[in-house]
Amino acid sequence: MLQNQAVSSILIVDDDPGTVQMLGKMLSPLGELRFALSGQEALNLARAMPPDLVVLDAEMPGLNGFEVCQQFKRDRDLAHIPLIFVTSHSDTAMEVAGLSAGAVDFISKPLNPPLVIARVRMQLRLKYLTDGLRRAALTDSLTGVGNRRRFDEQVEKEWMRAVRIGESLSLLMIDIDYFKRYNDRYGHLAGDGCLRKVAEAISSVARRPADEVSRFGGEEFAMLLPHTDEAGARHIAAHVAQAVQDLQLAHEASPLCGGVVTVSVGATTANGTGVGGNDSQPPPASDIVARCDEALYEAKHAGRAQSAFLPLVFELEAGAQAAAKGPFDA
Ligand code: GH3
Ligand code: MG
Ligand code: MG
Ligand code: MG
Repeated sequence: MLQNQAVSSILIVDDDPGTVQMLGKMLSPLGELRFALSGQEALNLARAMPPDLVVLDAEMPGLNGFEVCQQFKRDRDLAHIPLIFVTSHSDTAMEVAGLSAGAVDFISKPLNPPLVIARVRMQLRLKYLTDGLRRAALTDSLTGVGNRRRFDEQVEKEWMRAVRIGESLSLLMIDIDYFKRYNDRYGHLAGDGCLRKVAEAISSVARRPADEVSRFGGEEFAMLLPHTDEAGARHIAAHVAQAVQDLQLAHEASPLCGGVVTVSVGATTANGTGVGGNDSQPPPASDIVARCDEALYEAKHAGRAQSAFLPLVFELEAGAQAAAKGPFDA
């Protein structure tokens, strides 16, 4: 989900425990601190929970600061996190190398507390502002759920993850029934209000932190369900249809369920096991969206106000098929 963090989280990385302690003392009023004594430890901590800012020693045994910085920039979940280098050298070449590796600022030792605090505070403020812009760019302004851009990003990312770890990814497409008639009967502003309430009802069904609702377009929503198999997808799909019906929003122009707003839900599950291994490209995430759209069409065709599930079976290439089966399968 899109997070809105109130307290800044700062990761301090230095192989010298004395420096870590000193920085910790200076920066503790600015946020929640975490500490790492090596580059690898810093990466592990950041991947477990991305910080808002990293204060990073340039010179460390093992992964040095520049290498840590490069790894952050290569990781799509960490690339936007600002890194400030700390170094005992104050030569220009080092500074240029740090900045071109993607660092946002440079602090030299010996540490000057007011200067360190001012620079860190400045970077945290910028991070807060860019987070706000990023959130706005990915949010649907009418309903407050993710927008189409966010959906496109997430479906791609979650499918890659499902393929990497060999898990299931499920998707629901949710479309309001006879919504054109709703607008015609009650007006566009009431239609907008209806979209908001439906988005809220759908969101209330998404309970796991990784579940994500977005507005796919018009009166269509999508719900992405990572680590969810067919049984889970069917269950959530039925639950979504029921939650919207339970709102009991009057829709006198609809012949369904005694004249209340209803949705049709299409659902599908893609299994990431055995696809995309051994040099073969995994099927594109758009295959999942297309299949889910077919399931939605089935639900509409069967009379609306219901959900339909269609499985997604990928045609694996011969090599990938052998890999999926494993060497001991018949
Ligand atoms: P079906 O049951 O087959 O889905 O019929 P439908 O009328 O819901 O589908 P159709 O695609 O014919 O109409 C969708 C309507 O959704 C038409 C459009 O005016 C309305 N709509 C799309 N976006 C918005 C919006 O942001 N606000 C409002 N009020 N209406 C919207
Ligand atoms: Mg060092
Ligand atoms: Mg539609
Ligand atoms: Mg519709």
